Formats: sequence, structure tokens, C-alpha cells
Amino acid sequence: MDKKTERELAARLVAEIQRMAERADHKLRFMEVCGTHTVAIFRSGIRQMLPESVELVSGPGCPVCVTPDDYMDKAIAYARRPDVIITTFGDMLKVPGSRSSLGEAKTDGADIRIVYSPMDSIRIAQENPEKRVVFLAVGFETTAPTAAATVLAAEQQGLDNLFLLSAQKLVPPVMEALLQDEEVHVDGFILPGHVSVVTGTGIYKPVVEKYHVPGVITGFEPIQILRALYRLVRQAVNHEARVENEYEDVVRTEGNPVSRRITDTVYEPVDTNWRGMGVVPLSGLRMRESYARFDIERVMPLPAGALPAPKKTACRCGDVLRGVVTPPACPLFGTACVPTHAVGPCMVSVEGVCAAWFKYGRGR
Ligand code: SF4
Repeated sequence: MDKKTERELAARLVAEIQRMAERADHKLRFMEVCGTHTVAIFRSGIRQMLPESVELVSGPGCPVCVTPDDYMDKAIAYARRPDVIITTFGDMLKVPGSRSSLGEAKTDGADIRIVYSPMDSIRIAQENPEKRVVFLAVGFETTAPTAAATVLAAEQQGLDNLFLLSAQKLVPPVMEALLQDEEVHVDGFILPGHVSVVTGTGIYKPVVEKYHVPGVITGFEPIQILRALYRLVRQAVNHEARVENEYEDVVRTEGNPVSRRITDTVYEPVDTNWRGMGVVPLSGLRMRESYARFDIERVMPLPAGALPAPKKTACRCGDVLRGVVTPPACPLFGTACVPTHAVGPCMVSVEGVCAAWFKYGRGR
């Protein structure tokens, strides 16, 4: 589709959204729960295109952002051990813990290596048999299969020095937590495309039906997002609540059974802590007992007192992730907290809401 045709189609969709939204008895508020959607929405200026009667708000879709301070503190504590090599994706280095960051630990001499896939950790473990190699497994349903496959590969190769520090999270339980939160008001969810490729469409149905809040899975092109919004508005004004799939070319009903099976082989659901939301029941993944030997926290637990006391800051990342405030409500936004000197993870990650507001500077 050329740019002119795309612009014309977008204008028609916005007009349809506006016409449909006029039937609602209140301003409609929809939340995306995917960091890639957040960036796509800001980059394309969709918020500014929408009528006043439709509002978009960002939710807990950025994996780095939802990872709480205590996880970072654990990662830093392991990194500072001389017998440990940490492997991680690059954006984790700048994420602040309670007192410092992995980047600071690296400057102090910790052996922290940037990888592009968890599987890179296999080679590093093979090359360093005297060290314990710990991969920081942070992410949603999308990345869990690769982390699990790394564990299976390590098992197959008989590696006994590769471990995960796992903070894998699940999307539907946190949607439910948001819907139970009295401060959070949403009329529907833009559901994540990448997660749904793995999980399929069915995982959202129980939450959507229980809370009678619609959800639409979609891709990352502006037209796909606008189509999803049109479907959400249509459901909302008709008082309907179901899962629709605007990304049918890519997302199948059954998802990716192979990836799901790999994840299920290694992981089981567990209550887990989210930044801003606290512990959410069965919203995380931990390695099953049969794979506990790959879980660094079970193999080599940190001694009591190894973690620093939590530090209180003015960062409102937790409220931003719940969609309760927008980044400019944070007193540090754009002053003490900027991408080159981030105070909170929502400004660190390229998928962070604060980083998107700062970069595109035109949220509404
Ligand atoms: Fe936290 Fe920075 Fe966002 Fe404020 S602007 S909420 S300090 S990440």
C-alpha cells in the first residue's frame, strides 16, 4: 500500500471510529498491553488522530519495565560474584535496581555479557566451564519458549554450569489484575500480536468474558491498529465483549503448539511480583522441579542480607504501567529522568511508555 492510499484509509477509519464512538455514553478508553504497540502508536501519531471521545492508554507491556527492583537487585548480587558470568539483553544494563544497576556492576568489573539470544549463553557456558553462567530470562509468553529451549539444550549437552534467573511473565493474569484495580478504568484491550502468535487467541477469553471487557488482537502497522480500535469501539458501544483477531494472517487460533509445549515442559505458572502491581497470582513462570537444577535461585540462593533495602524515589513508573497516570505526571519526567540518564525503567527501555512520550512528545 502506498503512503497516499494508507493516509486515505487511515482517515476513513478514524471517521468510522468517531461516528461509532458518538453512540457511547462516555469517553472510551482502550489500553495496549504490548510495548511494541506502544511504540507503534506513538510513532504513527495515532493518539493525535483519534477523536476526543476515544482515549488510548499504555499498560504493562514492556518486559523490562514490569520487572521489579528486587529482580534487578538479585541480578546485580549474582553479577558481583567472581564465579558468575551474567548474560543478558543490552537494555537490562541501564535498568536501575534499588541502589545501582548492572551497568555500574560491569564498570566495577563484573563479567556481564550482552547476548542476542539466550542460546548464546550455551557457547559462553561451554567456553567457561569453571564459571556459572546465568542468563537473565525476562519477558512474556513470546520469549519464554526460547528460554525454555535453552534449558532443554543445556540438558541435552550435559551442561552443569548454565542457569536462568527467571522473571518470565504472563499477560492474561495481569489483565485480570488491572480489571480488579479500582484505579484502573478501561473499556477494552488492544491485545499483543507477538504474544498471541505463540499462545493463540483462546488465552484471553476467560478474562474478556468474566469482566465483560472486549479485546482485539492486532499487528503493528497503523492501519491494523486503527482497525483494531474500530472493532473495540464497535464492541463497546454494542455492549459486547469477545476476543477478535485483526491479525489473522499471523495469529492462529491454536497459536504455536511447538513453542507452547517447550514452555510447558520447562515452566509452570507461579505467583510473581510486577512493578507497580505487586504480586499477581499465577502471572509468572518458574522452572518445574525436574528443571530446578537450572534455576540459579534454587541452586545458589543469595545469602540473607545480600539484597539492599528498597529505595523510595519519586519515579511513578508503577502508576504509568497501570495506566493510572501518564509520564508528564511524574515530577522527574524530562528533567531528572531522560533516556540518557533514566531514573526508572519506563524511560530506559525503547518500549517504555516514558521513553515513547519523551521521544515523540505528543501523547494525549
Ligand atoms: Fe519513572 Fe522516569 Fe517515568 Fe518518572 S519519567 S515515571 S522517573 S521512568
